[in-house]
Amino acid sequence: MKDKYTAVWLSHSSIKDYLKCPQAYYLNNIYRKPETGHKIMLMQPPLALGQVVHEVIEEMSKLPAAERLRESPLKIYERLWKKVSGKMGGFRSLDEETKYQKRGQEMVQRLIDNPGPLLKKIIKIREELPYFWLSEEENLILCGKIDWLEYLPQTDSVRILDFKTGKFDEDPDSLQLPIYNLLVTNCQKRSVTGASYWYLDRDDEPRLVKLPDLDSSYKRVMEIAQKIALARKLEHFKCRQKDGCRACLPLERIVAGQAEYVAVGEYKKDIYILN
Ligand code: SF4
Repeated sequence: MKDKYTAVWLSHSSIKDYLKCPQAYYLNNIYRKPETGHKIMLMQPPLALGQVVHEVIEEMSKLPAAERLRESPLKIYERLWKKVSGKMGGFRSLDEETKYQKRGQEMVQRLIDNPGPLLKKIIKIREELPYFWLSEEENLILCGKIDWLEYLPQTDSVRILDFKTGKFDEDPDSLQLPIYNLLVTNCQKRSVTGASYWYLDRDDEPRLVKLPDLDSSYKRVMEIAQKIALARKLEHFKCRQKDGCRACLPLERIVAGQAEYVAVGEYKKDIYILN
């Protein structure tokens, strides 16, 4: 039955965690540190870099098209970088921080040099965290932030633009587009007629990607959502590998008290770093 407070909230990152490993899902999305009652999160340099670049883009998205480049995005970047400087970004040395900070600067500079997509009209979803009921009967909610929604006046529709700061291309079979298609369709009133990825460390413009249809998107997402809901009900989150793949070792070190606590982050998660 529909109840926002007891519903299972699913997002692209939590679904990705579950597909990687149920235990990784448990540690990232359910486990709470007994001392604070907060969920845990491991901060690492690539995450810090991605966070700041995305925050720059989000600041621009709040402005009318003609004002988006009025304040230099590089200045915004420098201001926001202070939030992840040093331990807050999981940097182990000034050298390491400088390297990542420079990579992010280059990505922001790429946006400044190729502003076309940023100067077009966009649609903003009002909620801080957009969500909708994936299934009211099964009490499942799908949520997630969308980077950018370009408005296409010829068809009065929207196109999803997702900014990428990592080194690898998104897996074509990933559930990101099915999830985003469902989210955007259900969280605003225009239809979704396209999607693109912008790999900011290597491309000067977004790459169009094939948008999956809504029916197959719903089926794929619902299938995994039901598995997650069942795993939560049975509290069954077992390691899949006999000897362990060690991917969750950093999170286990946090649970074991072997990581350094640095702050409370977004959504009240306790942020840790490993030395
Ligand atoms: S070690 Fe086991 S529990 Fe951890 S991520 Fe790998 S498969 Fe999952």
